Amino acid sequence: MKMVKRRRRVRVGRLLLLILGCLLCVLLLIGGAFAIKNLFKKDIIAAEFANPKMEVKLEDDSIDNQVYEEKDDASDEMLIYALHLPVFSNSSAQQELDAFVEEIKAEKAKATHIDYESNSAFSQYKSYVITATTYADMDGLNPIEPQTTKQLYISFDQDELIDIEDCIRMKAIRQLAKDHGCETENVLLKKITENGLVLSVNGEDVNFGYDENNTSFVMDNKNIPSILKYDKIEVKDREIDPNKPMVAFTFDDGPAPGNTERILKALEKVGGRATFFELGYLMETYPDTVREVVESGSEVGSHSYDHTYDWMNGMTLEEAVADLDKVDDIFFSLTGQDISLFRPPFGASIKSLSDTITEKIVYWDVDTRDWESKNTEKVIEMCKKYTYDGAIVLFHDIHATTIPAVEQLIEYYDSQGYQFVTVSELYAIKGK
Ligand SMILES: [Zn+2]
Repeated sequence: MKMVKRRRRVRVGRLLLLILGCLLCVLLLIGGAFAIKNLFKKDIIAAEFANPKMEVKLEDDSIDNQVYEEKDDASDEMLIYALHLPVFSNSSAQQELDAFVEEIKAEKAKATHIDYESNSAFSQYKSYVITATTYADMDGLNPIEPQTTKQLYISFDQDELIDIEDCIRMKAIRQLAKDHGCETENVLLKKITENGLVLSVNGEDVNFGYDENNTSFVMDNKNIPSILKYDKIEVKDREIDPNKPMVAFTFDDGPAPGNTERILKALEKVGGRATFFELGYLMETYPDTVREVVESGSEVGSHSYDHTYDWMNGMTLEEAVADLDKVDDIFFSLTGQDISLFRPPFGASIKSLSDTITEKIVYWDVDTRDWESKNTEKVIEMCKKYTYDGAIVLFHDIHATTIPAVEQLIEYYDSQGYQFVTVSELYAIKGK
């Protein structure tokens, strides 16, 4: 009996020892794993450079982590690379990243380490900051300053690469630049987060919150407040032959449902585009016509909110700017785009306006005086008499008599080899 008891005690003792031993092993393993992980995190560069053949795979499967040597043919020296990079399914993102890596490799530093940080917001946007560090020695201990960084932003929802102008309206970018005394090119997107954007303005980090800047956002996302009421319209660029004649037809005082669509139809037949200088209050009344113009590829410029006579009678600069802002906001709320052209009502000029606003001020070269004659034949005659290659021609799509004239003129100029361009296209070609 005693023996049995003792043996049992011995067995229990062994079992306890075994359990303790196992626990110790597990603890050691966990500790070791942490130590290894920390080593990679803290001293990843040193570890990678110390063992160039090592391949490290981290938890995210979109990550490609390579360390390798390459012989530089010019100097016959071995160069070492440690690259820790994302792999994009989006081809434009991948191309930009590849180009960046090639650019860094072309510096032919003894050692190069490229790493990145990513940040996601709303399961839709992901921002990547890619940092390249180059070293004067093989051991990767003396970094050459400064580091080079590249930012990439992707909307996974739409599988596209986006930039700051896809996130914030140009107006807000210009204002930020102005407030910080820099060029708009120095306003950069740094991070897209759940609370707002982190911008780099003249090298300084600026938080740009969604709620307090709701009139400024272009991003198509229910979590991001903006004044956009409809889907954003994307307009494709097109090829224009700079060696062929071209003309920019422009239509003021609309949109005029019915008339405006007839002009769009006539333009569509010849693959042409035009510019419509519209009034803000009519844009509010006829949002569908405004959207049709933009969707067709034609351009919408501002012609003020309501064509008030104040434009001729001492309107102040502040009043003029406020009027333009109002129209721009209406147009943005309908299309997701900003207005870049302004034709003052009555062709009036306000002192210092062009220096203050972001829109280009557009007058005309040929006035068909269609508002005066209200005569189809007369409009055709005036246009043919004065129009030349590169001219901006003025019509008004609110007058029914103008429409058949425009339909015939489009056919006529098309038969003469003319291209129908928007004012912005014309300016881009003529370098204005
Ligand atoms: Zn007008």
